[in-house]
Amino acid sequence: MSPTDIKGHLEEHRRQSVEDKLGITEFRVDAGNPHMKVNPDLCAACATKPCLYVCPANNFTLDAEGRLVMSWEGCIECGAAVTVCHTLGNKGLTWTYPRGGYGVRHTQG
Ligand code: SF4
Repeated sequence: MSPTDIKGHLEEHRRQSVEDKLGITEFRVDAGNPHMKVNPDLCAACATKPCLYVCPANNFTLDAEGRLVMSWEGCIECGAAVTVCHTLGNKGLTWTYPRGGYGVRHTQG
């Protein structure tokens, strides 16, 4: 790859929004074996719920009754949610990397 090719690739990377990048990200889901879990009781008692605000993929939401809903299948494995959960939240999130061969695959760098 020439320096001009690399420069063009980097410029395109900077132009893309987070949503654009997530749209071209591949996930190999380990069905029935989630690599992250939440404890409903600890989450219900979590006053600040910082996980709702830091996940770039918006994998944490609230349902109509205000209960936390977590979607592990689209996790980009950045570690932001578990970090804020264990520093600012109520430590209700358990997180590990997916098994080998599963999880996110960043195809565009
Ligand atoms: S920050 Fe942790 S304890 Fe609080 S709602 Fe989110 S996952 Fe649950």
